[in-house]
Amino acid sequence: MSLNQEFRADLHCHTTCSDGSMTPKEVLRLAKDVGLKGISITDHDSIEAYTEAVPKAQLLGLEIIPGVEFSSHYGETSVHILGYAFSLDSPAIHVFCDKHTQRRTHRNKAILEKLAQHRMLINEEDLVINPNEPTHTIGRPHIAQALVRKGYCRTIRDAFNEYIGEGKPCFESGARFSVEETLQVIHDAGGLAVIAHPHLMDDAKEVETILDFPFDGVEVFYARFTERDTKKWLEIAEKRNLLITGGSDFHGSIKPNIALGSSWAPESTFRVLQKHYEAIQRN
Ligand code: AMP
Ligand code: ZN
Ligand code: FE
Ligand code: FE
Repeated sequence: MSLNQEFRADLHCHTTCSDGSMTPKEVLRLAKDVGLKGISITDHDSIEAYTEAVPKAQLLGLEIIPGVEFSSHYGETSVHILGYAFSLDSPAIHVFCDKHTQRRTHRNKAILEKLAQHRMLINEEDLVINPNEPTHTIGRPHIAQALVRKGYCRTIRDAFNEYIGEGKPCFESGARFSVEETLQVIHDAGGLAVIAHPHLMDDAKEVETILDFPFDGVEVFYARFTERDTKKWLEIAEKRNLLITGGSDFHGSIKPNIALGSSWAPESTFRVLQKHYEAIQRN
């Protein structure tokens, strides 16, 4: 079977609605061009992409499942949680996205103040990646890009490593939402909750503790990881009988070395999510 005939679904990517550089429509066009059959757009703390993504996917003949990536905390540990196949009309999700917007507004302001104290002057107007597109979720990648554009840092990586990465002098985490609360919101909206990129978390033992919360799946297939890394999380997911998902975490030019479709989930996973989505829509 050629790769093109194989059903591949990229279940993790970002658009201009959060910190991606391509609009939802552009991401879907690219998905079609690279031969993906299914997709879920998982913007940070926003489901705004779906307004244009649902009709565009239909037009392109791409299968699409609602998705989102929420930032949460377990104590001091940052945990990204993917929500899938929830109702796009759910008040629970909409209210929670609004709470995150408020959290980010305050947090970003605090980071800009710290940068100003270090003589790096950035305004809120500087935090726009694509001036023609409304951005619903403004994050540290936007701040990093402004630091590069204004000549304060050489690269986005330098901006994180020197100033705004966790524990660096201009970092602020802002208000926090717990893993429990985030799972509750996803489940209230009828969705399934998946722990994102556990490979990136420092303490694998702690991830196992976090997985004792009512998660539905693990993002096993994720950009750049070795087979050995993937195997570990595959075994953990299987042992706990959790759904095995995958995706690239595509951000466009913000993370230029990650291609859309470079990690994906197989058709069986996609059908589980799709069945779930159809069932919640009937109820
Ligand atoms: P925020 O949610 O606004 O705190 O920003 C977090 C996002 O910044 C993550 O989802 C990553 O995409 C990006 N990020 C975090 N750390 C780094 C880093 N060291 N280098 C580049 N991007 C990073
Ligand atoms: Zn991101
Ligand atoms: Fe993430
Ligand atoms: Fe992501």
